[in-house]
Amino acid sequence: MDMMETKTVHTAKAGERAIHPKVMPLYQTSAFSFSSLEELEGYYEGNGTYLYSRTANPNTDALGETVANLEGAPKGVAASSGMSAILAGILAVVQAGDHVLAAQDVYGGTFHLLKEELVRLGIGVHFADFSNISEIEKNLIDFPEVKLLFSESITNPFLRVEDIEVLVQLKKRYVVKVMIDNTFATPYAVRPFELGADLVAHSATKYLGGHSDVTAGVLAGDKELIALAANRIVNMGMNLSPFEAWLALRGIKTLALRMKAQTANAQAIAEFLKDKAQVWYPGKGAIVTFALPESVDVSKFFSSLGWIQIVPTLAGVETTVSYPYGTSHRALSEEEKEKIGVTRQVVRLSAGIEGTEDILAQLGAAFK
Ligand code: PLP
Repeated sequence: MDMMETKTVHTAKAGERAIHPKVMPLYQTSAFSFSSLEELEGYYEGNGTYLYSRTANPNTDALGETVANLEGAPKGVAASSGMSAILAGILAVVQAGDHVLAAQDVYGGTFHLLKEELVRLGIGVHFADFSNISEIEKNLIDFPEVKLLFSESITNPFLRVEDIEVLVQLKKRYVVKVMIDNTFATPYAVRPFELGADLVAHSATKYLGGHSDVTAGVLAGDKELIALAANRIVNMGMNLSPFEAWLALRGIKTLALRMKAQTANAQAIAEFLKDKAQVWYPGKGAIVTFALPESVDVSKFFSSLGWIQIVPTLAGVETTVSYPYGTSHRALSEEEKEKIGVTRQVVRLSAGIEGTEDILAQLGAAFK
């Protein structure tokens, strides 16, 4: 190997030296090499080695395993985004001809996935008010094709806490599976699998990653369903990149600390706002939604928030606000927005980890 052209291609490999990193290294590689055909054969015989990063990678595997562990579930799998985790989970349970029954107040992106994409695949979709058990049950009776109940542990933007135990009772009676998007609550506050759900999905873009620098998804749950979901992820190319998995894993190390601080701040904010606005705060999680009185100019309020940034996401370490009317619920008609209460006065706040008094002072200044 004397020529420049060869030497530049065959760079040194750290793995060939005896290195013992304290944290898991980043396996930023699209494929893995083998020193013999016997070793390659070993992969297919299940010796735990890796072949190709779309099918599996140590960083993405570690993320799936970590979230499964946090959720108290036997298995987990990472995906390229929260949407892909949800899609893979749904497709692990249903196929063309089957139906999904979802809560009517699920995240807008999930609503579109169900209403536009799943329907195109020949999967029937129904939405119901999940706070009304008889409405869920009526749908299950009217549509025996329903194979999956889908909801969120805490919904957006009005933070309704799903009664997962009720869904689990229905699951037994009507022989369906239950999948819960646990993005807003995180396993710090709610563990749907331990309550009897079959699958738990996450947008790791939010609290799991926690620093607004990664787009990722994770699905945890029943071993067989996760194996089926993992097949969908591989075949449909919904795999997560190793670097995003590595970042999400680094974020998870402080999940408990962040959730503790953010939840305490959210509680203080909800208390502070209660005589200034109509407040929705369910007592858990770190999101507070409030409706400003009609007398308050919404646009002026948003521009008076100083270091509290306006962003169309949530769950970072910084306190931020978003405007559901103009972002997440923008595509809904005026009537649909009115029906669910997303008026022009509604603000969704994501509590960060800053000092409580500083956040309250900044909000107080905006009200002034
Ligand atoms: N589920 C919930 C509750 C969300 O809020 C979001 C995104 O905002 C998603 C799923 C989708 O996640 P991602 O943007 O990572 O695909």
